[in-house]
Amino acid sequence: MNTEHDTDYQYRERVVVPRPEKELRFRNGRIPGYFSIFLGGLSLAAVLAYLFPSYLTTTDLRAAYDAEALQDVLKYGMWFSLFFGITTFVLDRRKRLGAAGIAMTLIAFALGGYNVPVGPVEPKPLSLGVDWLILAFLGSTIVFTSLEKLFPKYREQVILRDEWGLDFFYFCLNHLLISAVLLFGNFLVTHFEWVASDSLQAAIQSTPLWLQVVLLILVADFVLYWEHRVFHEVRRLWPFHAVHHSVETMDWLAGSRAHVVQIFIERGLVMLALYLLGASKEALDIYVTFAALQAIIIHSNLNVPWGPIKYLLVTPQFHHWHHSSEKPAIDTNYSAHTVLFDRLFGTYHFPKAHWPAEYGTTQKLPGSYLGQLFYPFRRR
Ligand SMILES: [Zn+2]
Ligand SMILES: [Zn+2]
Repeated sequence: MNTEHDTDYQYRERVVVPRPEKELRFRNGRIPGYFSIFLGGLSLAAVLAYLFPSYLTTTDLRAAYDAEALQDVLKYGMWFSLFFGITTFVLDRRKRLGAAGIAMTLIAFALGGYNVPVGPVEPKPLSLGVDWLILAFLGSTIVFTSLEKLFPKYREQVILRDEWGLDFFYFCLNHLLISAVLLFGNFLVTHFEWVASDSLQAAIQSTPLWLQVVLLILVADFVLYWEHRVFHEVRRLWPFHAVHHSVETMDWLAGSRAHVVQIFIERGLVMLALYLLGASKEALDIYVTFAALQAIIIHSNLNVPWGPIKYLLVTPQFHHWHHSSEKPAIDTNYSAHTVLFDRLFGTYHFPKAHWPAEYGTTQKLPGSYLGQLFYPFRRR
């Protein structure tokens, strides 16, 4: 099927019921409560990362930031966590959240706070990406929550929507496992090095940077298209990918939900393909940044006029259709970066005037992390 618009299908508007009781407001204590716990949790994690950098920071990422300068940011995070925590007591609302935030910050102070000495780090092959998690979560929350508030597709949708905690857990896990995923990718690379062609790699590196980036995007897109399609169309594999599709509210956090098996396979395959291509490090860095941002944006509750870009690149509307449980959208829009391969291989579905009314899987999945982890291994 290669349709822009299914003429037999009655497209409907999505209904989002307002939930004032879940709204984040200062007066009801939710804003100071969640801010306190958010900053307290991040501060405690950061202090632990300063204390045990070999085990809790990422070798490649460490080279990109100034750990001592970030202690200034940590200082503000800790004091603001205390301030917001105390505010919940002043307001007499959400005191439990405030107390938890204060408790975490006090533990962080007791462990050395923002004065833990920063020295040389002995790199370990396998570590938890706590630094990556903190920076990504802080950056994503600020940028994408603001964008979703400024240009929402569904204005009524609340930030703390159903199952946000589950997706937050996935977000944390995906970031903590970064060095394990990189290790797995490198393991694949060392086993397929014999495929690499020096002359091809030299030819690619001699092309302009922008062309290398375009090539990386197209090669990764081709690999991701088929990996994604196989996960949908091979019966035994679908339950692994169904986890990603079980999300029923789309926002920037929703895309984090994915089975760990799929994450390793997907990232490993892309790393291998990009390694074999042999582009320059600069081009790879641009690609990785582009891919990471696009992956978040396409799940977001975001409605901005993309103009002609939407006929070229995967945008929220396009990927939201991939997550729809409505009939004309099933098994369509597999692409991750450009819409090219869906066009080419007959799986394009993009009724431009419409957005999906329903998201999720036709068969309901368990609602817990462990339930979803073991879901693909259950006897059917
Ligand atoms: Zn899918
Ligand atoms: Zn998705």
